[in-house]
Amino acid sequence: MNANQFELIDLAHRLLAWYDRQKRDLPWRRSKDPYRIWLAEIMLQQTQVSAVIPYFDRFLQTWPQLSDLARARDDQVMKAWEGLGYYSRARNLLAAARLIETHFSGVVPKEEKELLSLPGIGEYTAAAIAAIAFGRPVVAVDGNLVRVFARLTAKDWDPSNLSQRRQVRRLAESLLPADRPGDYNEALMDLGATICLPRRPNCSACPLAELCLAFHQGQVERYPAKPRRRPRPVENKIVLVLIWQKKVHVSRRPARGLLAGLYQFDWLSSSALHEGQTTESMLAQMYPGAKISFLGEKTHHFTHKQWQLDGYAVQVEAKPELKTGLWVDRQTLATLPFPTALAGYREQVLLL
Ligand code: SF4
Repeated sequence: MNANQFELIDLAHRLLAWYDRQKRDLPWRRSKDPYRIWLAEIMLQQTQVSAVIPYFDRFLQTWPQLSDLARARDDQVMKAWEGLGYYSRARNLLAAARLIETHFSGVVPKEEKELLSLPGIGEYTAAAIAAIAFGRPVVAVDGNLVRVFARLTAKDWDPSNLSQRRQVRRLAESLLPADRPGDYNEALMDLGATICLPRRPNCSACPLAELCLAFHQGQVERYPAKPRRRPRPVENKIVLVLIWQKKVHVSRRPARGLLAGLYQFDWLSSSALHEGQTTESMLAQMYPGAKISFLGEKTHHFTHKQWQLDGYAVQVEAKPELKTGLWVDRQTLATLPFPTALAGYREQVLLL
């Protein structure tokens, strides 16, 4: 045990006493059902707690048991996920539910190694499920946890550095109380989410302030180390909502890759514009006599890139020759799973 660990030896005791008084009342904390904990952990990947709660409740109303979800239709699940973003999570969730039914007799596996074999479950989620649902002595480490431990120990740990994350995991696990691994994980999650915030942490309310080196040094915001970020590339696109005889043209994205399996409108790249040409004049040339309405600009951020979208509704008289896609009425359009990036345009088109 090194000097830091010696100072942190009291950490779990203080943390759990605070957690017992202050823990957040979250729907997935009301039972130890592994299905609920797994569902919540998948939804919480990349999404804030407040946004997850209504989706979590709706999913459980529709599919109260894992076996119900395993039997669900792909489209139903994608539709129920609409608005949460990162749709590969929904596809993986369904694939994992079916795998659990067929390969694990319908029971969520207990061990991290088995959990890691399921689609959509990485190191963090496997550890969180193993600890919270099954009391395994492991700690789920994400950026929040690296931040907390970087401050507690005043170390320049960088959340994006995998080997440093593992160091944090070893340290956090060395302090884990054998009788409450799940609560210890959830208490650390609460501390990172509500007290030890990235900016202006609320140290005066922190149960660990006495143990915290960065706090004593008056340097809390110096930690964790800041990763150097490259700017996200921007893709400029024109979204074309083609409308013919009250029907709207949509197509389905490929089964793999970005936003796989979701529906979309037609696209044009801004590079299709000739110099000096406006989008409206290009569309008027492509669809003579059409009624063209601008639907506005939208920006959508992915982790690795950004879409800058200009949307247009193009109401045509003659049916355009299109090799792919389908024409749907507005009722059907409202029920198809669409990516968040395009959902706003769909809402506008439903009102046209
Ligand atoms: S004292 Fe402040 S910086 Fe240290 S762990 Fe608590 S909230 Fe974070």
